[in-house]
Amino acid sequence: MAKTPVLTPRAEDFPRWYQDVINKAELADNGPVRGTMVIRPYGYGLWERMQQDMDARIKAVGVQNAYFPLFIPQSYLAKEADHVEGFAPELAVVTHGGGKELEEPVVVRPTSETIVNEYFSKWVQSYRDLPLLINQWANVVRWELRPRLFLRTTEFLWQEGHTAHASYEDARDFAARIHREVYARFMEDVLAMDMVLGRKTARERFAGALNTLTLEGMMGDGKALQLGTSHELGQNFARAFHTSYLSKDGEQELVWQTSWGSTTRMVGALVMMHGDDNGLRIPPRLAPIQVVVLAIKGDDAVLAKVREIGELLTAAGVRVHVDDRTDTPFGRRAVDWELKGVPIRVEVGPRDLEGGTAMVARRIPGGKEPVRAELLPELLPKVLEEDQALLLRQARERRKARTTEVATMEEAAEAATAGGWARIRWADLGPEGEAALAERSVSVRCLITEDGAVPDADDAPGNVAIVARAY
Ligand code: AMP
Repeated sequence: MAKTPVLTPRAEDFPRWYQDVINKAELADNGPVRGTMVIRPYGYGLWERMQQDMDARIKAVGVQNAYFPLFIPQSYLAKEADHVEGFAPELAVVTHGGGKELEEPVVVRPTSETIVNEYFSKWVQSYRDLPLLINQWANVVRWELRPRLFLRTTEFLWQEGHTAHASYEDARDFAARIHREVYARFMEDVLAMDMVLGRKTARERFAGALNTLTLEGMMGDGKALQLGTSHELGQNFARAFHTSYLSKDGEQELVWQTSWGSTTRMVGALVMMHGDDNGLRIPPRLAPIQVVVLAIKGDDAVLAKVREIGELLTAAGVRVHVDDRTDTPFGRRAVDWELKGVPIRVEVGPRDLEGGTAMVARRIPGGKEPVRAELLPELLPKVLEEDQALLLRQARERRKARTTEVATMEEAAEAATAGGWARIRWADLGPEGEAALAERSVSVRCLITEDGAVPDADDAPGNVAIVARAY
């Protein structure tokens, strides 16, 4: 029987391949209102694992969770001029409630700096109340014109951190700490993602921020995706909401703030960074199911064996699922687990039983080989770690292979249009070059120093711009 590809090949049409994976791996469906998304259990399972790990890391740097309302008085947004200007085109505004026109329209939160500040201004009195470190897990709404499942939806799930500090330096260092110690560590260690950590240019900065730190990843087609951001808000919101404190010297001072967010977009990034023509490849440390043990046939001895292997692997600390649904043909189930990117399949049929072995199929490097069943609990945890490292290596190698050093705006545009990243000295590009790139749907993803660190200022000497097309 000829094997028809389940997915559009990536080389043929990458966006279509992406849609196919989301659909066939049962991650999500389009919602009835344009831009909204129904997250299916397998996709939500990935998000839940991300949430759990990220939540622990956020708490480890001293942040506490809280919850603020979904509805924000429209007047709050207007208090910070840049913020309202940046968000106005994306707002969903509620004008009616309970069958009556509201006296003041309310917006559905696109982000919560304004309402958080309204309450921070009540909670913060003296320097002893600082730093105030808060995070919330919530949904937000931004009326996106070009929605795409997970990557850019009208309603998305995220965590948003909001902090207030006594000094500029303390706030700056905290924004950098979240960027490096929480976001970059999580994405690299758990999601096996390769990325560049940099600083956004003025053009790309968050509306109302002094500085935006970003993490930019290269997707399978060479485009860039912003994976998360951490902002230095300076005193902009503090000024608008009078968030001030009595200093040690007895002076009233405005607080210095940060905010930072990461979203369900990370699920889309996972698909586009690690997926291949057979579907998803989930990094083992994230995978809700690390090993699926499949019964090839429904005979009693086989079923008993898969259950036994499942128990042994669970005892060895592996997240296991036993697939004994032998009423569905084995081939179909195998393809399905492959699509879903489960890192290891252990397949057991009557012939394997005779030999005392099981077939081990590795999703990440590919390939299959028989392994003695009693060795599995010792072997598979090691294989999972190897495959975790391999994913990161492959992502790194792709970025290296697809990044070109260039000297002019023209060359940068060409490299980006051809499906790669360009590195160009910021002094050779500048805001005018950046504007010219935008005409060609190419952008400066971030600025980095010559050594690849995060620069202190846009115009620091030696700054390098990373230029790409972006999702
Ligand atoms: P921001 O509050 O604008 O800095 O956004 C925080 C993060 O949310 C960004 O770094 C993006 O990765 C992500 N993001 C922004 N818009 C969307 C969207 N419409 N859907 C999913 N994720 C988004």
